[in-house]
Amino acid sequence: MLDFEFLKQSASVLADAAVKTTKDLTDKGKHKMDVLAAERHLAKTQRQLGALVYSLHKNGESNDQLVKKYLQAVAQAEEQLAQVTAEQAEESRDVRMEKICMRCGAEVSKDATFCSCCGQKFESADDTRGGVRHTEK
Ligand SMILES: [Zn+2]
Repeated sequence: MLDFEFLKQSASVLADAAVKTTKDLTDKGKHKMDVLAAERHLAKTQRQLGALVYSLHKNGESNDQLVKKYLQAVAQAEEQLAQVTAEQAEESRDVRMEKICMRCGAEVSKDATFCSCCGQKFESADDTRGGVRHTEK
């Protein structure tokens, strides 16, 4: 038999995941959950799934519904991690936004006065008009 504590714990992990997902959706832009937390959450969910499968197997039982729930929770945790990772990457791109030299196309830092590649002088922001972009994804 699966012990009751384990099931209780399972339920709380699943509830946890649901709450965090909702929060992510409503609270976009504010990263309450950072990459590390998302990784920890994924690892925890995977561990729980493993423990559940092992426990069922050991006892010669099956509970496809619960396993399925866990698989969903793991998938959800993976999605969260991917999302948080992407959001964080985007944020760091914003911080180090670069401009493109209109003459040679080289990427130079936002506040550069000269192109480090061809030496083009940037008189004003006009020199890179239309050229300001985020670094390649
Ligand atoms: Zn240049």
